[in-house]
Amino acid sequence: MPLLRAEGVTVAFGGRRALDSVSLTAEAGRVTGLIGPNGAGKSTLFDVVSGLRRPRTGRVRLDGRDITREGPARRARRGMSRTFQHLELFGRLSVRDNLLVAAELGPGRRHAARTADAVLDRLGLTALAEDPADALPTGVARLVEVGRALVLRPRVLLLDEPAAGQDAEETERFAALLRSLAADGTAVLLVEHDMSLVMSVCDEVYVLDLGHVVACGPPALIQRDETVLAAYLGEA
Ligand code: ADP
Ligand code: MG
Repeated sequence: MPLLRAEGVTVAFGGRRALDSVSLTAEAGRVTGLIGPNGAGKSTLFDVVSGLRRPRTGRVRLDGRDITREGPARRARRGMSRTFQHLELFGRLSVRDNLLVAAELGPGRRHAARTADAVLDRLGLTALAEDPADALPTGVARLVEVGRALVLRPRVLLLDEPAAGQDAEETERFAALLRSLAADGTAVLLVEHDMSLVMSVCDEVYVLDLGHVVACGPPALIQRDETVLAAYLGEA
């Protein structure tokens, strides 16, 4: 049984379908990519999966259990955690306090400081722990956002464009982090525009275009799929 499954998810804004019967599976221990041009519906699918938006039709299942009607807090307690495309850090708090605030809500809350420090160390952020979040370059701020998701010890981790604003070296380190999270058994669902990152870290890639899954498969196949090329070339 897959850890996370979206089945036939449809979302409409006014008359327009942002998602039209979208199904997707994310397995424990794997990095699953979700790519597609701007406006394809990637962030909307994250909203549905994380419980911020109810789909018009369709289901979200975690371990086979139907969680479609559960809110985001309930899903977080079940082990789902996400980051946002638009960063949602507390700008005046330090890097460490941003993680602490989140850690105090999670399963490691009784040892929140230790939980936060362990994640800072894993992300290579210990030296920046006392810096205010709003003074960070975007690439580092993205890592802090990932850290806030990680202190919740997620089984399912949803990352919405986490490498946007990272330089080449940061992206390389980030790729290694994603692989190590998968090796720990986490189901990672990655929305990302950096194709070399997607193709190097993902086990499987879904391609969304105008609310439809137009392709899905291992990176090597997706890279030469004509429907995928058409979706991207269409955008350019
Ligand atoms: P992506 O993340 O792939 O760029 P989104 O999920 O953000 O795409 O958006 C998918 C479509 O839904 C776009 O056409 C977008 O304009 C529309 N959309 C997203 N959120 C809303 C909203 N709150 N109200 C109306 N339309 C929206
Ligand atoms: Mg988006």
